[in-house]
Amino acid sequence: MPEAGPGDLILRVLACGTCGTDVKVSRFGHQHISLPRVIGHEVAGEIVAVGSGVDWSVGDRVQVIAAIPDDECYQCRRGFQTVCEGLESIGYQYDGGFAEFMRVPAKVLAVDGVNRIPDGLSPAEAAVTEPLACVLNGQELASVGAGDSVAVVGAGPIGCLHVRLARARGASKVFVIDVNAGRLELAARLGADALINASTQDPVAAVRELTDGRGADVVITAAGSKVAQEQALSMAVPRGRVSLFGGLPKDDSVIQADSNLIHYRELSVVGSYGSAPRHNREALSLIASGTVPVADLITHRLPLDRVNDAIELVASGEGIKVVIEP
Ligand SMILES: [Zn+2]
Repeated sequence: MPEAGPGDLILRVLACGTCGTDVKVSRFGHQHISLPRVIGHEVAGEIVAVGSGVDWSVGDRVQVIAAIPDDECYQCRRGFQTVCEGLESIGYQYDGGFAEFMRVPAKVLAVDGVNRIPDGLSPAEAAVTEPLACVLNGQELASVGAGDSVAVVGAGPIGCLHVRLARARGASKVFVIDVNAGRLELAARLGADALINASTQDPVAAVRELTDGRGADVVITAAGSKVAQEQALSMAVPRGRVSLFGGLPKDDSVIQADSNLIHYRELSVVGSYGSAPRHNREALSLIASGTVPVADLITHRLPLDRVNDAIELVASGEGIKVVIEP
């Protein structure tokens, strides 16, 4: 049972989502993690204890940010908290949500990283706030907006959230591309305008065909795939935006790209990493208002003692969102 120091909160974890990072960390460790460490960073819980000076009450239901900016470095002062030079994370430097109880460090509260879960919203849905916040950061950076055609490469949980959010931001057409027919079938419930199986069709030709031969206004790679990133550049319309949302394995991250595509077509290529506290606030409100529904994306709910099974499920790609409910 963790103890609340000054400015801390203690949560009873109600729901903690699993993600691809948990698969990687559980198998290969992480440069910023020294063991032992409790992972799990998509956290929703109920406050059971508060440290001194905390403006929350026992019984409050809250969602917690994962990436913790220091709010004092050069990048934070510029307003770019996602690339904070002193960034720390729940599950890396601090124990996370695959536990019955979790300490929310004062540092999280200092950057407004705790959000009240509106009445009527389930903890499992609230736990999807953190990944949606990351997706929101990505779509802000790629300027996804009204009338855009958007191609999402990767039909996993992040790809599904990209589809939903693009719709909410007014995209006119959304296409989903994956190499896995089962995943595309799951993604069919999203109501995409087209599902493209890249193992049987040329996804670049398919996207062109769907956009009067021009290409998509925005292409988002939500897959850790070099081929996806290379193809994304060819899928974008001149003046289009390409978001390299999903990272590549660190020992295999060099891609072959025709830089003339970027030059002559005046493409913008943007990265995206994590989310800021304000993205979490907005994402929770998008979920609670029904603007970005997530309940139907939660395909599996497992108890804490099955966390290893949950991680295997994520690795297999069989579900969309897998949530631990301790
Ligand atoms: Zn900073």
